[in-house]
Amino acid sequence: MRILVTNDDGIHAPGLTVLEEIANQLSDDVWVCAPSDNQTGAGHSLTLSMPVRLRKHSERRWSVTGTPTDAVSIGLKQVLDNPPDLILSGVNAGANLGDDITYSGTVSAAMEGALAGIKSIALSQVMKQERPAWEDRFAAAREWGPKAIQPLLDTPFEPRTLVSINFPCRAAQDVRGMRVVRQGFHDYDRGSVLEARDPRGQRYYWFGLDAIEHTPDHGTDLEAIAEGYASITPLQLDLTHHSSLTGLAQRFSG
Ligand code: MN
Repeated sequence: MRILVTNDDGIHAPGLTVLEEIANQLSDDVWVCAPSDNQTGAGHSLTLSMPVRLRKHSERRWSVTGTPTDAVSIGLKQVLDNPPDLILSGVNAGANLGDDITYSGTVSAAMEGALAGIKSIALSQVMKQERPAWEDRFAAAREWGPKAIQPLLDTPFEPRTLVSINFPCRAAQDVRGMRVVRQGFHDYDRGSVLEARDPRGQRYYWFGLDAIEHTPDHGTDLEAIAEGYASITPLQLDLTHHSSLTGLAQRFSG
């Protein structure tokens, strides 16, 4: 089984190393193609206005000066001679829960894989900003990652679907299990925007990524994580709201 590993935090991210270790437990044909820099929040963007450079770090480890989508696309087109059987994206340093997935470079890399017809799984580790320096931030993902991926290996995925997994911010032994749940929604609050002035006196803004309190719906990824479970959510690229089709078509008929 050939595995392509990517992420959105960049080729030097600790979470990528965690996922490479997990992939190496599953196969001896593991390849990496990841962005050269941190691309958190890149979503499903593609670099179109500048060239993308591909750098070889070792025989099976490559980086691209672009987005996670660039990395998957160039990995499939330029790095690998034969397509992989599986694409793993992550382990992201931070949650990708609820409506956050549309901002997520981690999930978008897996979306790109799904569009290419390859079984793709995104993995994210929920984190607190403040934590003891000695703590293994990826402890839950490290321990529970293989348990979450294993049942998916012989599960057929529908075309243009993918699976997103989040691990709770807990010690591995305190994770209560895994739940297959739907995507929830956050209470809408994009968090803080810091306003300050640059050295030349011009105003600038910087988005924060604060932890926001939520009231998660039952059966959602947000609820599973809040209760200490790893969440496993199947996602689809078809964003059509099917039940609105007929009503909307009537507005445009005649
Ligand atoms: Mn990230």
